[in-house]
Amino acid sequence: MVQLLPEKVSIIGSGIGGLSTAIILAQLGVEVTVLEKNTRPGGLMRSYDRKGLACEVGVHYLGSLDKDQVLRKFFDYLGVSDAIAVDRMGENGVIDRYLFDSAGGQRTSFDLPSGLGAFSESLYSTFPEDKAAISTIMQAIGRASDQLHGLDLLYAADNDFSLLDQAEPFGKILDDLGCPPGLRRVLAIAANWVGVPLDDCPGYYHNMALASYVASSYRLKGCGADMANAFIRRLKALGGTIITNASVEKICVDSRKVTGLRLQSGETLAATTVIGAIHPQVLLKMLPEKAVKPSYRNRIRGLANTHGIFSAHVAVASNVHPAIPYNIFKVDTEESGNVIDLRYFQVRSSRNPEKNVLSILTSGQDELWAPWKNTITGRRGRDYQSVKEELAQSLLKEAGAVLGPLGNAELLDAYTPLTLRDWVNSPGGSAYGVLRSSSQILGTALLNRTAVKGLYLAGQNVMAPGIIGTIMGSFSTVKLMLGPGEFKKRIQL
Ligand SMILES: Cc1cc2nc3c(=O)[nH]c(=O)nc-3n(C[C@H](O)[C@H](O)[C@H](O)COP(=O)(O)OP(=O)(O)OC[C@H]3O[C@@H](n4cnc5c(N)ncnc54)[C@H](O)[C@@H]3O)c2cc1C
Repeated sequence: MVQLLPEKVSIIGSGIGGLSTAIILAQLGVEVTVLEKNTRPGGLMRSYDRKGLACEVGVHYLGSLDKDQVLRKFFDYLGVSDAIAVDRMGENGVIDRYLFDSAGGQRTSFDLPSGLGAFSESLYSTFPEDKAAISTIMQAIGRASDQLHGLDLLYAADNDFSLLDQAEPFGKILDDLGCPPGLRRVLAIAANWVGVPLDDCPGYYHNMALASYVASSYRLKGCGADMANAFIRRLKALGGTIITNASVEKICVDSRKVTGLRLQSGETLAATTVIGAIHPQVLLKMLPEKAVKPSYRNRIRGLANTHGIFSAHVAVASNVHPAIPYNIFKVDTEESGNVIDLRYFQVRSSRNPEKNVLSILTSGQDELWAPWKNTITGRRGRDYQSVKEELAQSLLKEAGAVLGPLGNAELLDAYTPLTLRDWVNSPGGSAYGVLRSSSQILGTALLNRTAVKGLYLAGQNVMAPGIIGTIMGSFSTVKLMLGPGEFKKRIQL
């Protein structure tokens, strides 16, 4: 049976999830309106400026943009490839440099190269004793790569649960292979990119995340605001509408069917199809108590989320600290090789030829910010600023030890999980939304399907976080609306 798309759709949230869903639907002839609570659209994708320099939030690098790779296919379909200028990483052989400090004070490193072949060669030469384990792991990563670029997750038959076969935690898979700590810690980083501890990170999820960056990695030539503007221009060219300063407060439901939206301003809008490109726990609070069954409410309420992120942006002199064409991860590990915490450093050129921007990211250390959890951005006072500044300065010191003395580096800004919580409405400041762990695999399945007719979910929570995972989620939501047969017919990626 052919499922017809509705004539009009309202989308809550203008992050890359909301905007990409809107573009897909607009290309299929649907009239779309995106409602965004902030003054500027783009969500986590949008960078912000301090002293004329762009500070990145949710796009530090992008995987799989080479021809025939998954993100390139998505960008081409969305019509934004030519509008997003990027620089290829790894030309000098390195995408990411991992630095490991052992408890005894010794430092070792591993360079993640571009290409699966180069990656397996690096592993074989660094860990010559572990050839058998590496071969098994690389076969699984190769399979995940084929599934990712072949878009199996979108085009496989509706009830294809073959991925669940690979849902075993990656940490357990490594245990069973007798993987030693040195190899384990190299492989552990990819689980961190998606915010899941290695011992609870489904094998396919780890492997797809790793494969997506190893396939090819790119940096934006400009900044996240340019990328957000490319999506906005494309949507507007297709006739879509974006309304900012439009915080949705309630979804009106009658007899389990969507009838409209109520904004914080008190305004109401009629709507029979709504896509919430926001966190499912935020969406749930917008629904009337009786709109969904208690079992659905409890499932969504009970979902655990990924941790927060703390980040600092620093201006450095470009003649002393030239842009580094790869990322640096300084990693603390347990003896087992599991990651305890990491610091991410990126030095990029900026609009000002004399200045480069050093971005530092680390875990949110959520407990530090607990005293201010009931306050809102801009109203947290001096003590909060001092704690933020202190943490930023200690990270700067660490950056200096890795990059060389930072001299008169200038701290541009720092943000905490509370900043992200308030900016994009992410529960508790979670960076990557719901925790896609092996233990939560059933609770997180089919999240784009809701119990209310005419209501769908999109965004990073429906399939996976990251730019690839979020856009994949947008396509999967449209597939749900169209039905798999019609999706296959009408959307060729
Ligand atoms: C610090 C950080 C670094 C990252 N780095 C990378 C990276 O280098 N590469 C990569 O691929 N991925 C990265 N990611 C992940 C990636 O940025 C996200 O997965 C993706 O941007 C999520 O998009 P989204 O549309 O789902 O959510 P969001 O961008 O959060 O969008 C949700 C939108 O909904 C709006 N909204 C919320 N509530 C309401 C409401 N009631 N009414 C109206 N609007 C509302 C919000 O304001 C927001 O604009 C990073 C994430 C973080 C946090």
